[in-house]
Parts: sequence; structure tokens; C-alpha cells
Amino acid sequence: MTTTAQPTTTTGSTPPAITRPASVTPGFLQGLVSRVDGSGGATWPLTEVYTGEVLVELPQSTPGDIERAFVKARRAQAEWAQWPLAKRLAVFKRAHTLFLDHAETTTDLIQVESGKNRRMAIEETCDPPMVMSHYLKRAPKLLAPTKRGGPVPFLTTSTEIRQPKGVVAIIGPWNFPFATGISDSIAALMAGNAIVLKPDNKTALSPLYGVQLLEEAGLPKGLFQVVCGEGPDVGPTLIDNANYVMFTGSTATGRVIGERAGRNLIGCCLELGGKNPMIVLEDAAMDDVVQGALFGAFGNTGQICMHIERMYLPESRYEEFKTAFVKAAEGLDVRASYDFEPDMGSLVSVEHLRNVQAHVEDAVAKGATVLTGGHARPDLGPAFFEPTILEGVTDEMRCGVTETFGPVVALYPYRSVDEAVALANDTDYGLNASVWGTDLDAACAVAARIEAGNVNVNDILATAFASKGTPSGGVKTSGVGARHGDQGLLKYTDVQNLAVLKKQVMGARPGQDYEEYVKGMVSGLKMMRKTRIR
Ligand code: NAD
Repeated sequence: MTTTAQPTTTTGSTPPAITRPASVTPGFLQGLVSRVDGSGGATWPLTEVYTGEVLVELPQSTPGDIERAFVKARRAQAEWAQWPLAKRLAVFKRAHTLFLDHAETTTDLIQVESGKNRRMAIEETCDPPMVMSHYLKRAPKLLAPTKRGGPVPFLTTSTEIRQPKGVVAIIGPWNFPFATGISDSIAALMAGNAIVLKPDNKTALSPLYGVQLLEEAGLPKGLFQVVCGEGPDVGPTLIDNANYVMFTGSTATGRVIGERAGRNLIGCCLELGGKNPMIVLEDAAMDDVVQGALFGAFGNTGQICMHIERMYLPESRYEEFKTAFVKAAEGLDVRASYDFEPDMGSLVSVEHLRNVQAHVEDAVAKGATVLTGGHARPDLGPAFFEPTILEGVTDEMRCGVTETFGPVVALYPYRSVDEAVALANDTDYGLNASVWGTDLDAACAVAARIEAGNVNVNDILATAFASKGTPSGGVKTSGVGARHGDQGLLKYTDVQNLAVLKKQVMGARPGQDYEEYVKGMVSGLKMMRKTRIR
């Protein structure tokens, strides 16, 4: 069954009718949201972005519902943590297959709730399987007890034991709801934790489906709870009940979460916003740069935390790039469609469209030039905005210093590489950067000077983000901690230092002269420094 809906817009323009994916039936969506407790009766109208039509009423969790979710999760976690690791990991081996087999349905859900184009939606579905694949190989080593030397060789041992933290709260954004909601839970679950996830109201469907698939793969019922609500309403109860918080979202909200976690003396990982620069070096291959720039600026409709909002070009190649980039941007296929044709889809909401539009209007009012784009496109759907390229952007403009998070990018010429690096670093953010050049040593030398948690050479972001063995996080105001890599799993554990003294040798023996004891201790320390025994 398919549903054809007529989009509604705020301006009276009528976008073409669009056929909703066959999988997105009212019964299916109702089944997904029935997992969320909302005992107060309040609901939130979750809409199809391309049309503005309500898809399903999403229950809103009360503080009592959230507390009960933690009780259920904690009960399930006590048992899950006792499962042998191999048995826990077997769930994710099955889930890996299930996630790939059901990628098209997941893609349908991501698209209806976020409005992104289908190419980005299907790419998003690949992230949890990639994370599973990595940690299925790595978790046994990371979670195995590690014997360390004790202070007295042979007579003492110390073993590093990794214990799950308990119940991890995950708070996710709307831009990659499936990846942030599910991928960030995988390492936590493997380590023996339970999850209480709070997705963004707008994009709760795909993570709810991910939880359903995990349970089909054998995840015990109750271990993965989902609660819903507006952040400020549910955040405090969520953080106050959690043993650890994994947050992805804006820098402003990250500060609120970090403060509360700090007061509760629990750990948190904060993956926040960016104002990511791209530096093109003199010897860069221009065709590749233009292709990269298109994705960097307009991929996911400019709503990727690691996407590019500032592009620095050498003066000698500025005009060449500008001409080619503007032409390529104007050739993009921007449309609402549930097939793989469009290059770019919609922004997530009319509210966000207004933010993006306000950034562009502010820049223009203060003297920036629009090279292409700059307008909302109600003829395409309620929240469409044109791919927009600006020049003459300054620090007095909002889009010069703060994250726009839309398909809007500013071009800047530079005179020397030192100047380009200084401009790239002239920001409070430090999430991602991109450097382009054919001399890889030279490009890597520039990359090393950039203050960012991720730097991609001859790519925008995918190479860094898909390298699951390396931690990926932000510096400066772009975050605290990281996902991926060993620390992406170990952060969800506490260390127990299990120390054993086999014979009483520490301290002076009864009746021993203390000066003698001190001499023995000092020579013992000298010997330990020289011996290879650890
Ligand atoms: P946001 O901070 O407004 O919201 C993120 C989540 O936090 C949502 O679920 C929201 O409901 C919740 N929230 C809001 N206020 C809260 C509060 N007081 N307590 C608890 N939860 C609260 O961010 P957004 O607009 O949804 O997402 C876009 C932002 O996320 C951008 O800044 C983007 O750069 C960033 N982001 C970062 C990464 C990364 O890995 N660094 C990835 C994706 C998105």
C-alpha cells in the first residue's frame, strides 16, 4: 500500500504530490511508537517533512515514565552483565545481518522523518553495521581482564578489570537519528550496560526501528528503553537517573548536559557542533575539490556536524574554483523524492529553515554577496532551501562565526598557507577540517596545524568518520570525549583495580629497626628501576 500526500506550505505554493514509501503504514508506525511510555497522555505530532502531514502521534514521557524506564533497564542490565561476552556478542552478529537485510525500511523511516535525500539516508543505515563489525572484533580484547605488574615483583599482582557502568543515557539529535541513537549504544551494550535513549521528537521512528531489530536479534527485552519528550522537559530526570551520558547535539545544549552530569559526578561524552573549514592548497586537483566541496557544503542538506561552512582558496585559484563550484551547485537536483535521484533533500523543519534563512539575511544585510541560492523553495516542499554560496562573509555576521547547519557556505581567498591556517583556527569550534592538495606530505603538514579533532586530507569527512578504529570527537567547544576507537567502548566501563598481595612484605616487620627498613626499601626501589620485571 502506498499513500499519496499533497504537501502543504506556508506560502501558498503547491509542491508536486509525492508517494510515500510502501513500508510507512500507520500500523507499522503505531507499533513502533507503542514502545514509548507516555502515561500523562501528551503526544507530539511527528510529521513527514516533505509534506508536513502528521504521520503518528508520539507519546511524551513523564518524569515517572522515565524513572520506570530506568528501573526496567537496571533490572535487565543486572542479568545481561552476567552473560558471557561471547553470548552478548552473538546478538550483534545476528543484528549485523538483520540491519543490512532491512536497510531499505530503515531508509524509508529516516527519509520520512528527516526529509534528507535517499542517498544520505541509506548511507546512514550503514553506520551501525560498521560499528558492530569493528567492536565485534575489538571488544573481546578490550573487555578481557589485563594483568599488570604489582609494586613488588612476584609477590603482588594488579589486574585491570572492566566493569559496565550500569545504565547509559543516550540523547540524540535529529540530523543522524539512526546512527547516533543506535551506533552509540552498541559499544555500551557490548560492555554490559543497559540503555535509555532519548531521540529527538522529530526523528524517533528510525531509532525505534533499530531497537526492534536488536530485539529480533536476541537483545533481552527491557534492556534498551526509549523515552521521548522535549529536551528541557525530560533531560533532568534522564541525567539524574543515569550512570553515564552520551550526548550528541549543539554546543549550547552540551553545556547544560555537561553541567548536570558534573553535578551528579557521572561521566559524559559530548559530541557537539562545528564551523568546519576546508583549505585548498595551490596544487589541489580542482575537479576533485569541486566534487568534495559539493558534498562538504550540501551533503545531508548541510546538516552534518562535520560538514564544511568555510572554504579557503589560494588567491591564484579562487576565481577558477568559484566559477566551477557555483556552476556545479546550480546543477544540483534538489527535490522531494523517495528514490535515489535527488542530490539534495529538505531541511528538517520549517523552524530550522527560518534559522538558516535568518543567517543568510543577516549576512546579506551586513554586506555579504550571494553567489548562488539564498532562498527558501516552498515550491519543492515546506522546508526546502537552495544550495547557497556566499562571499564577503565577516566575523560581524552570524554565519561568519556560528554554525548555520544548513546548505550555506562562505568562500574566502588567502595569500599564504600561514594565513589560511590562522583563519581556519580562528573559531571556538574544533570538530572537523578538510585539506586538499596533491603533495600529501605538504597537505598532512597543514592538517597537523589545524585545531580540530578530525582532519581529512583530500576528503571532507567520510574517511575520518568511517575509520571506526580511531577515536573521533571534537576539541575546543566541539566536544568532550570521543566515539569509535578503544575509548569509544572503554568510556562505558569503570575500571576495577584488583590487587593481590601473596605474602606480607610491605612495611617494617615487627621489631625491625625502621632505619634498616627504609634502607631496604630504597635499595629495592633502585633495583626495581633497573630490572626489566614490571
Ligand atoms: P540540540 O542540542 O538542540 O538537541 C539535541 C538533543 O538534545 C535533542 O534530542 C534534544 O531534544 C535534546 N535536548 C535539548 N535540550 C536538552 C536539555 N536541556 N536536556 C536534555 N536534552 C536536551 O541539537 P540539534 O539541533 O538536535 O542537533 C544539531 C546539532 O547537533 C548541531 O549543532 C550539530 O553540529 C550537532 N551534531 C554533532 C554531532 C557530533 O558528532 N559532533 C553529530 C550530529 C549533530
